[in-house]
Amino acid sequence: MVEGRQETKPRKETTTIDIYKAWCKGCGICAAFCPTGALARDEAGYPYVKDIGKCINCGLCEVRCPDFAITVEQKKKDKKGGQ
Ligand code: SF4
Ligand code: SF4
Repeated sequence: MVEGRQETKPRKETTTIDIYKAWCKGCGICAAFCPTGALARDEAGYPYVKDIGKCINCGLCEVRCPDFAITVEQKKKDKKGGQ
C-alpha cells in the first residue's frame, strides 16, 4: 500500500497530496474540512487520500492542519507566472 501519497493526472494539471505521517496526530481536521470527500480517515483515525479525483485544490486541509502535516501541490502544465 502506498502511504499517504497519491497523484492524479487530469487534463491540465497534476495534484499531489502529501501526508507527512510523522507529524500527523490523526486529529481528523483535514478530512472534516475537505468539502469533496477526497480525504477520508482510516480505522486508526489517520487521513488518507480516498479519491484524488475529487480534490478541487481548495487547500483547506493544508490550511487547517495544526501540525503542517499535509501539503497540497498543484502543478499546472501551462505556467502563467505562478506565485
Ligand atoms: S485541497 Fe480541498 S478538496 Fe483537496 S483534499 Fe484538501 S480539503 Fe479536500
Ligand atoms: S489535520 Fe493534520 S494532524 Fe490532523 S489528521 Fe489531518 S494531517 Fe493529521
